[in-house]
Amino acid sequence: MRVCGKLCDTGEVVTARLEAGRIAGFEAGVRDPAVGGPDVWLAAGFLDLQLNGYAGHDFNVGTWADPAEVSADLYPILESAARAGTPLFCPTITTNSAERMRGSLAALTRALDADPRLVRAVPAIHVEGPFLSPEEGPRGAHPLEHIRPPDWDEFQRLQEAAGGRIRLYTLAPELDGALPFIEKLTASGVVAAMGHTAASPETIREAARSGARVSTHLGNGAHALIRRHPNYLWEQLAHDDLFATVIADGHHLPPAVLKCVARVKGPERLAVVSDAVSLGGLAPGSYAGGRHEVLPSGKIVVAGTPYLAGAGHLMDTGVANLVRFTDLSLAQAVRCAAAVPARILGLEGRKGELRVGCDADLTLFRLSDQGPLETVATLCAGEVVFRAA
Ligand SMILES: [Zn+2]
Repeated sequence: MRVCGKLCDTGEVVTARLEAGRIAGFEAGVRDPAVGGPDVWLAAGFLDLQLNGYAGHDFNVGTWADPAEVSADLYPILESAARAGTPLFCPTITTNSAERMRGSLAALTRALDADPRLVRAVPAIHVEGPFLSPEEGPRGAHPLEHIRPPDWDEFQRLQEAAGGRIRLYTLAPELDGALPFIEKLTASGVVAAMGHTAASPETIREAARSGARVSTHLGNGAHALIRRHPNYLWEQLAHDDLFATVIADGHHLPPAVLKCVARVKGPERLAVVSDAVSLGGLAPGSYAGGRHEVLPSGKIVVAGTPYLAGAGHLMDTGVANLVRFTDLSLAQAVRCAAAVPARILGLEGRKGELRVGCDADLTLFRLSDQGPLETVATLCAGEVVFRAA
């Protein structure tokens, strides 16, 4: 198959030749493409490191009984992501009882084992919690009754239920036993990420020394009021060994903060994530038995508090906002959605780049002054998974 578009760095129109799910070569100009054309941007497919659910569907169900039920939740999320230019994502399992987290992971794993299309879309699973700060603010919307200190045996049971697919793990490094836990995670090939944390600057540095490599949605899952300096935000910003992920939905971080984080971390250390939840894309109103609320702005909050309860926008919004609110170029913003997330997962050389030999995960889009990117087509391992009508 041939796919045509403009390269984001030079604007040059090229046609990519795809063979056996990989990029086999590039030719200049328009060469009889099946997808795309000279007026659309061509980028490596976006990889969302943090996707909880969307449009009423959730990866954190934990009670799926049969494959049909699993599919009823998984495929709509897959399709929503593809429509937002995102062929690849990490289903994110969040704080709950050990039994329920294992249930969600086991159900997800059964679904992945049964369908190569899902396997291609899911390079890894991200677990966020339950080893997070119990403090109001850093805890965010994670249920207090299920927050607990790090437990390596529990992690191993989660990893077993996930068939070894957990590759990214977010925890708070200040909890009892967190630093040795981070060392064990790292030694077992899982990327340790700090998030929902109230850690001291010293503990942030110790966590990085222990192997933590990522700050999860930096600037969110934090106190509403904080000592101006020193604090855990400056420390993570200043630490050059730490990648930062950001939720660039326009609600989680003000544009000025997003711009500063992007400038400090730079396009090789910044990854945009959606952190979208099942309420994303739903009409304003009260949900989850009145616990959560979707506001008319699309903001999702813990009812009656200023705390956000996950995001309602996907990667098409995040990438457009990076271009709009920061001084990253389009090519750099796209790297933050593809190359950097792939590098965080250790997939460099295979995913996240428009290069011969890499998997043919591709995003074709147009960009305008307002709103999300307009996805023209999304390909996952050479297969068209979304195409605009
Ligand atoms: Zn979070």
